[in-house]
Amino acid sequence: MNTGVATAIAYVNGAFMPVAEARVPVLDRGFLFADGVYEVIPAYGGKPFAIAEHLARLARSLKELQIANPHSEAEWTDLALKLMEQNGGGDCMIYFQITRGAPEKRSHGFPLNTKPTVVGLCNALPMPSEVALRDGVGCITRPDIRWGRCDIKSVALLANILASQAASEQACNEAILHRDGRVTEGASSNVFAVLGKTVVTPPKGPEILSGITRDLLLAALRAAKVTVQERRLTLNELRSADEIWLTSSTREVLPVTKLDGEGVGARKPGALWKKAYALFQERKAVSSRA
Ligand code: PMP
Repeated sequence: MNTGVATAIAYVNGAFMPVAEARVPVLDRGFLFADGVYEVIPAYGGKPFAIAEHLARLARSLKELQIANPHSEAEWTDLALKLMEQNGGGDCMIYFQITRGAPEKRSHGFPLNTKPTVVGLCNALPMPSEVALRDGVGCITRPDIRWGRCDIKSVALLANILASQAASEQACNEAILHRDGRVTEGASSNVFAVLGKTVVTPPKGPEILSGITRDLLLAALRAAKVTVQERRLTLNELRSADEIWLTSSTREVLPVTKLDGEGVGARKPGALWKKAYALFQERKAVSSRA
């Protein structure tokens, strides 16, 4: 079982090694320019969850940045399984990062004939705590100051980490970002609001990351005949929502009961969240039986 919190064995460009010995060159464009992408794949009991969807998103991110995908889906899957095995399996998250590689000199333009750098890590999965599921979590709101291609899972995360840090400093789980009066997403999650009996989440597009958990939850809600709308969600609507949820591979479906210090709805996880959470757990159970 993966009992530790951190990777013991890392993967770098074809080799497994103790993480303390894992290195990339200083000329790596991931280091110099954040010129790379990443993916985080959760695994339950040593079995990757929704890996095909995660690898499809990884392939898309690479394509958008014109980095050649160094592996086939089968090779990525094999690598994910080996990384988990090396790190004890259990409930974990597999992290892949691919950069445009390390050319001979620093220069903005794409280098020719440089092989992408591939790094893999495997950490214990930080599941939502019982208290968080029972009482809900707090969030702050922050202006979304990120670039215009948030659909690419790029390692350029400075605006996200500043927002996350501000949330932590206020003992909050997440920062919910907004642009021109509308909600985009969390610093590392997607946002759902319950308005009456309708579940609303901002639409896909360049302003948000197309979350795998978001997609799976939307499909499960629709199959259960819950009314869902992918549409513009204003910050005012969020502030008066009956319920707010966050989704991500590590949060699953997390209820938010405080926003900027004010209570959300009935100030406790709501009835539709309970349903959504149960539907998501069911989806996990189906995949672990497959
Ligand atoms: N948005 C952002 C900015 C994220 O970093 C994440 C976490 N990867 C998500 C949304 C949620 O995506 P997923 O459900 O695929 O983990």
